Amino acid sequence: MKKKSIAILGSTGSIGQSTLQVLKKSNEYRVELLAANKNYLKIVNQVKSFKPNILVINNKNIFLKIKKEYQNKKIIILNSFENVQKYTNKINTTVSAIPGIAGLEPTIIFTKMSKKILIANKEAIICGWHLIKKNSVKYKTEIVPIDSEHFSINMLLQNQLINQIEKIYITASGGPFLNLNLNKFKNIKPINAIKHPKWSMGKKISVDSATLMNKVLEVTEAVRLFPFSLKKYEIIIHPNSLIHAIIKLNNGTSVYLYHLPDMRIPIANALLKNFNYNKFFNKKIKNYDKIQNLTFLKVDKKRFPSLNLIPEMNRGKSSAIILNAANEIFVDEFLNNNINFTDIVNFLKLVIKDKSYIKTSNLSADSVKNIYVIDGWARKTALKIIERKKSH
Ligand code: NDP
Repeated sequence: MKKKSIAILGSTGSIGQSTLQVLKKSNEYRVELLAANKNYLKIVNQVKSFKPNILVINNKNIFLKIKKEYQNKKIIILNSFENVQKYTNKINTTVSAIPGIAGLEPTIIFTKMSKKILIANKEAIICGWHLIKKNSVKYKTEIVPIDSEHFSINMLLQNQLINQIEKIYITASGGPFLNLNLNKFKNIKPINAIKHPKWSMGKKISVDSATLMNKVLEVTEAVRLFPFSLKKYEIIIHPNSLIHAIIKLNNGTSVYLYHLPDMRIPIANALLKNFNYNKFFNKKIKNYDKIQNLTFLKVDKKRFPSLNLIPEMNRGKSSAIILNAANEIFVDEFLNNNINFTDIVNFLKLVIKDKSYIKTSNLSADSVKNIYVIDGWARKTALKIIERKKSH
């Protein structure tokens, strides 16, 4: 059987590595392209193990170092995605897992070149879904969401009539601070915020899971991906992280998808034809068979004030781009110990109060260039807010 080609954007990250672990156990694919940023050691190891034809390395210094390392080898090494189509034109499947707005343009480029895109990058969906969708229609590219909640909704919808759906519940584990005393929130340190109780993920999404901004992004993502309005969605806390979405039907029943909090499950199901769970994974993961007590709790907005941002995130044409970009800045500044954990959401509220916010949030984001203009305004405004607070 001829192997299918695959490109992994963000190969050294949490999703990228999970994808490569799945590929290691299958022989359906050959790795055509890997893209990463600055993790030199992981990049070199991945080249050794997976022998890609093309490497895209975004960080200039690491790009130059890698180029030198492989100067006598038959591997194409690029510093950007700009000309990637010159070197490869047909990719069967692309996994889009570069976080943040940086993942948008590569996703659009690969939508033109691939038959199928497995999309993890929620920020790209939130900011530029209309552009990704337009290309997917034009180039007949199938798009499969692999963010676990959307993967679940997508699978569950395959067996239901759209007009039967009453409500879609998106579950949240509640993150590391679900039971922390509220007056301790101010002193939360990055090291604690990135320790997710159930999932092993990159730093940015782990902090978003702790503030629950991740759910704000996910509801917005769902509104883009599926044909339902915001009011159909509700967030509930499910500390077990075993059920990722529940669909309530108007026939008196509800359906849900159950799987362990391991991204290799959505990835493998989206990638492989006959994915057999038992053949793939080790003993520990087979605990899956022991279905345990499932707990669901109402979400407490005092603990998670980010959830109050959901209506605003879904209001103006471009409010999601602004709040997403400002959130990226605040998370970064928190990770660098420059602001407090509680500042993240408090400062997002200040972005909304900025005098140019309404005007900017109503701008049309009909091209990547315009998205970057709006995104840039949000980043500048976020940094100004931090500076202002520091000088007080
Ligand atoms: P990580 O931070 O773990 O990994 C990021 C990856 O992207 C790394 O390979 C990094 O390279 C690469 N990268 C970063 N910037 C660039 C750039 N400008 N150009 C090329 N490569 C770049 O992120 P995650 O894997 O956790 O998340 C990826 C996306 O998937 C995010 O949008 C996240 O929200 C989403 N997601 C993640 C889940 C998870 O379980 N992790 C679950 C659901 C969605 P390097 O390491 O070399 O710096």
